Amino acid sequence: MPERIPRLDRSTWSEARRFDDLGVTVLDRWVGEELGHSETEERVRKALDFEVPLVDLGERSELYAGVHVLELFHGPTLSFKDFGARTMARFMEALLEERGETLTVLVATSGDTGSAVADGFAGQENIRVVLLYPLGKVSEVQERQLIAQRPGVEVLAVEGTFDDCQKMVKDAFVDEELADYGLSSANSINVGRLLPQMLYYLWAAGRLSGSDPSFCVPSGNLGNLTGGVLAHASGLDAPGFVAGHNANDFFPEYLAGRRDEFQPSVRTLSNAMDVGAPSNFERLEHMLGREEMRRLIWATSVTDALTRRRMREVYEETGYVACPHTSVGLEAAVRYRRDTGVDRPVVVLSTAHPAKFPDTVSETLGIDPPRAAALERLRDRPTRFRTVEPGLSSLKRHLLSRSELSG
Ligand SMILES: *Cc1c(COP(=O)(O)O)cnc(C)c1O
Repeated sequence: MPERIPRLDRSTWSEARRFDDLGVTVLDRWVGEELGHSETEERVRKALDFEVPLVDLGERSELYAGVHVLELFHGPTLSFKDFGARTMARFMEALLEERGETLTVLVATSGDTGSAVADGFAGQENIRVVLLYPLGKVSEVQERQLIAQRPGVEVLAVEGTFDDCQKMVKDAFVDEELADYGLSSANSINVGRLLPQMLYYLWAAGRLSGSDPSFCVPSGNLGNLTGGVLAHASGLDAPGFVAGHNANDFFPEYLAGRRDEFQPSVRTLSNAMDVGAPSNFERLEHMLGREEMRRLIWATSVTDALTRRRMREVYEETGYVACPHTSVGLEAAVRYRRDTGVDRPVVVLSTAHPAKFPDTVSETLGIDPPRAAALERLRDRPTRFRTVEPGLSSLKRHLLSRSELSG
């Protein structure tokens, strides 16, 4: 964690006209001195070059008065992970250039992180990306996003489980032969991914007049929520945050004082949130302290059945199509307002495009899922991956046989 959190003036977000303007102003306070101000600006503008719309569901139906959806899925891989991955890639590239170093980023992935990192880091000078995913264990859309050919990115389809992939990466980091190899990770505890995730909280508050809204965050590893807490610590006066979890309910149970131990994860419809041991939990508790964490954050757990029901209800009332993760958030937001009586506006973070989950959307709503141009384009793109056996030795063989950066 950084030692000091820069305080921001309200006008920073209320007067920002464009999302990348806000990004430049805020991130310069964090990294401008180290990277240089013009360098920071150039990198941030390149990373954050997509729309961040705020949709008012209350305009469509009185039942959802005061409920807004902040769409974080207009980046190239259609999930909020693009914000962190794209920004971090460009900051890392700038630092490596300055130091004349190269780096290999190793990522084990079962979902949105892998494609966001692959896309975000592709073509960055001095950075090679090696991505591991479990062959046959990700959805068709996810796989298409992962194996699209990208400069500087190598994809290993591991004949095993996600845990095998993760173990290969962990073993590589502590392997003596690879110690001087320049390996790095890009997982969700990396602060370089968290910083850009505070921007859209400020952005949404700036689009709404009057007092700052509450925020409802579909959560797994709690990295997205941590971005909100950083925005709060910088001066955003949100009355509260809501953590919407699926059946992986460690955090809501913890806040309620009913549980202290992490759990094994269980599979749900909102699979990017299937996390039994949230990796940002300790950081959150460290930032806020236990009491303040309980005061500021309200959490709830939503079953798959109620996720589908909320998806249907929102669609029937407002015509809005939400992905399963966003539906967990919408259900959590409705419960929060009902159970706490807070009637200030609430902004639900929409973490992924519904087109990434065509089966769930069509089964639940009986319609063809909306199309996303970024996915359609992938259909004709060449793919490239190599199938490998699980175990460190096959990863090492790959790393050492092609130690030059691939073009
Ligand atoms: C990663 C992800 C989440 C969970 O975010 P955390 O930062 O891990 O809490 C929610 N929804 C989608 C679509 C994701 O990809």
